[in-house]
Amino acid sequence: MAEYQAPLRDIRFVLNEVFEADKLWQSLPGLNGAIDAEMADAMLEEAGKITSQTIAPLNRSGDEEGAVWKDGVVTTPTGFKEAYATYAEGGWVGLGGNPEFGGMGMPKTLGVQVEEMLYGANSSFALYIALTAGSTLALDAHGSEELKRKFLPNMYAGTWAGTMCLTEPHAGTDLGIIRTRAVPEADGSYSVTGTKIFITGGEHDLTENIIHLVLAKLPDAPAGPKGISLFLVPKFLVNEDGSLGERNSVTCGSIEHKMGIKGSATCVMNFDGARGYLIGELNKGLNAMFTMMNYERLSIGIQGIGSAEASYQSAVEYARERIQSRAPTGAVQPDKAADPIIVHPDVRRMLLTMKAMTEGSRAFSTYVGMQLDISKFAEDEAIRKKGEDLVALLTPVAKAFFTDIGFESCVHGQQVFGGHGYIREWGQEQLVRDVRIAQIYEGTNGIQALDLMGRKTVANGGAFFQVFADEIQGFIDANGDAELAEFVQPLQAALTNLRELTAYVIERSASNPNEVGAASVEYLHTFGYTAYAYMWARMARVALAAGEDDGFYQGKLSTARFFFKRLLPRIHSLSESVRAGSEVLFEMDASQF
Ligand SMILES: Cc1cc2nc3c(=O)[nH]c(=O)nc-3n(C[C@H](O)[C@H](O)[C@H](O)COP(=O)(O)OP(=O)(O)OC[C@H]3O[C@@H](n4cnc5c(N)ncnc54)[C@H](O)[C@@H]3O)c2cc1C
Repeated sequence: MAEYQAPLRDIRFVLNEVFEADKLWQSLPGLNGAIDAEMADAMLEEAGKITSQTIAPLNRSGDEEGAVWKDGVVTTPTGFKEAYATYAEGGWVGLGGNPEFGGMGMPKTLGVQVEEMLYGANSSFALYIALTAGSTLALDAHGSEELKRKFLPNMYAGTWAGTMCLTEPHAGTDLGIIRTRAVPEADGSYSVTGTKIFITGGEHDLTENIIHLVLAKLPDAPAGPKGISLFLVPKFLVNEDGSLGERNSVTCGSIEHKMGIKGSATCVMNFDGARGYLIGELNKGLNAMFTMMNYERLSIGIQGIGSAEASYQSAVEYARERIQSRAPTGAVQPDKAADPIIVHPDVRRMLLTMKAMTEGSRAFSTYVGMQLDISKFAEDEAIRKKGEDLVALLTPVAKAFFTDIGFESCVHGQQVFGGHGYIREWGQEQLVRDVRIAQIYEGTNGIQALDLMGRKTVANGGAFFQVFADEIQGFIDANGDAELAEFVQPLQAALTNLRELTAYVIERSASNPNEVGAASVEYLHTFGYTAYAYMWARMARVALAAGEDDGFYQGKLSTARFFFKRLLPRIHSLSESVRAGSEVLFEMDASQF
C-alpha cells in the first residue's frame, strides 16, 4: 500500500490555474480579504502535512482496532485522540467557521481541498470533524445569539464535537414519521425523549463535550415533516460562565458493528428527558437541518474523491512494480522475467478511469465550492442568486456522483492488485469497505437522484438546469478554436443530449408521477458525465495553453482524451434507459418478484 500523499500539485492546478480562485476571493467583499493565493498555498501545504503525516498513518490501525463501546463509554482507536488534538490546535476544525465566534472564515473553495485530504488520509477520522463542522454551520445560521456565543467557540476550537441526530429505528429517509418528543419546560428549554440510531460520533473520547443537533416533535406538532423542530442537546450542560456543568440525560446504548469506517463510532443514542434548546423556529427544524445536510452532502461526496485518490495512488505504484506477462507489443523489460502490469491495456483502462474520474471530481467539487462561496459572500443580488441556484442543483449530483464513481474507482484500484487486492495488508479492500457507506448515508444516492430530478428540475420546469446549461453553452461559444475542438464538440453534443433528456422527463412526468423516480438515477449519472465533460474541457484548455511541461500538462491532455473517448459515451446507454420510461418497472405485480 502506498503511503497517502496529499495531491497538492493537482489541487493547485485546479484551484489556481483552472478556476483562478484568488480572483474570485478578491472579488467577494463578504470575505473581507480573509485569504489570498499565498496564504491559501501555505495552508494547503500545512493541511497536506498533517493529513499525510499525522492522520493517514492511523488509517489501517484504526480499521483493525475499531471504535469500542463499554458501559456507555466509547473509546476511539489508538492515536485518534492525539491526532484530533493536533488537528484542532491548528484551528482546522473551525476552518470555514464564523470569525465572530472564533472560526477562521475561510472560503469553501479552500475547505473542499482540505476535506479531500482528510478523507483521503482516513475516512473514519475525517467523519468526526465533518460532523462537527456541519453542526456549527446549522447553529451559526439558525441559532440564537446566546446559543452561538455559548457553543460555537469551543466547537470551532475542536474541544467540543458535534453530531447530527435524525435517524430513528423506523424512520430513515422519511423523517416526517420520527417519534422523538420535545416537551417545553418552564425555563424556556425543552425536555427531549427518544431513541436515535446510526449517529456518527454520538459518543467518543476525542473531546470534553459533544453537542447533539436533534430532530424532534412537540406533542401538539402538525403531522409529517412540517411538525419537526431542531434542538441542541449537549452531553454535558454548560454553565453561564461557559464551564461544563452536570451530565445531561443522553447516553450511548451501543455502537454498530459494520462493513467499514470501523474507527468511526456509529451510535445508538438514548435521550431520556434530556435538556435541549430550540434552534431556529418551532416546526421549521427540517429547514434548519438542511443547512447542515447540504454541507454534509458535499462533504460525504468528497469522501468518494478522497478514497478514490488514495486507491489510485496505491494502484499506480503497484502497477509499476508488479511484473506479470509480456506487453502485447513485445517485451518492455527483457532483462526481467516479465513486464510490469502497467503495460497491459486493461490495467491502463482501470488506472485511467480512476484518474479521469477522480480529477474530474476534484475540479467539480472546487466548482461547487465556488458556487457556495458566491452564494454566501457575493454582494450583487443576481450573482448571489445564480450561485444559490447552482448549489441547489449541483449538491445532489456532487453527493451521489462522487460516491458512485468513487466506489467504482476503489473497486478498480482493488482489481489492479489482483488477488492481493482482496487481502488486508494491501489496504485496497479497506478502501472499498470504507467508501461503500458514502453511497448510503446522508440520504441514499437514490434519494439524491430523486431530489435532483424532482425538486430541483421537474418542480421548477428546469429553471436551475437552464442556469447551468447556459453557463456551459457560454464556455462552448467562447472556445471555438480548432485546438480545443476535440473536447468542445463532444461537450456540445453531451449538453444538447442533456437538454433534450431534461425536457423529455419534465414532459413525461406531467402525465405519470412514476416517471421522475424511474428516470432519476440514470439521469443523475448522465448529468454527472456531462458536468465532468465541462470540467475536462476547462482543464484541457489550461493544459493546452501551458508552456514548459514536466509531463504534468501532457498527462492532463491524455487523461482528457481518455475521458471524452472512453467515459463520456456512457451517457448514450444511460440516456436510453431514461427514455425507456417507467412502465416497464411496473409490469410485474409485487407478488411476482
Ligand atoms: C454508518 C452509518 C452512519 C450514519 N450516520 C448518521 C448520522 O450521523 N446521523 C443520522 O441521523 N443518520 C445517520 N445514518 C443513517 C443514514 O443516513 C440512513 O441509513 C439513510 O439515510 C437511509 O435511511 P434508512 O437506513 O432508514 O433506509 P430507508 O429509508 O428504509 O431506505 C431503504 C431503501 O429504500 C429506498 N427509499 C426509501 N424511500 C424512498 C423513496 N421515497 N423513493 C425511492 N426510494 C426510497 C432508499 O433509497 C433505500 O434504498 C448513518 C447510517 C450509517 C449506516
